[in-house]
Amino acid sequence: MNCREFLERLEDYLDQQTATELRAELETHAFRCSHCQVTFNTTRKTIEIYRNNELYELPDNLRTKIQEAVMKKCSKMREANQDCSSGSSE
Ligand SMILES: [Zn+2]
Repeated sequence: MNCREFLERLEDYLDQQTATELRAELETHAFRCSHCQVTFNTTRKTIEIYRNNELYELPDNLRTKIQEAVMKKCSKMREANQDCSSGSSE
């Protein structure tokens, strides 16, 4: 899984119905990739906050914001020749 896939699937992670295998893949990528880890942790915290407020749906604009933030980081990394999608062939 690379960063792009991670971002695409992160939305699925928010869905309680997502398969455990996919969740494990996302967690594995977040563990290896510090940039996605930040996003992952932020997203999880956000979900917890929403849950505590008994709101189970994340607003679409929040998802978009999270995605944009990481995509920006990743593109900066690529410009610096430090591709953060280290697992692109996986
Ligand atoms: Zn990543």
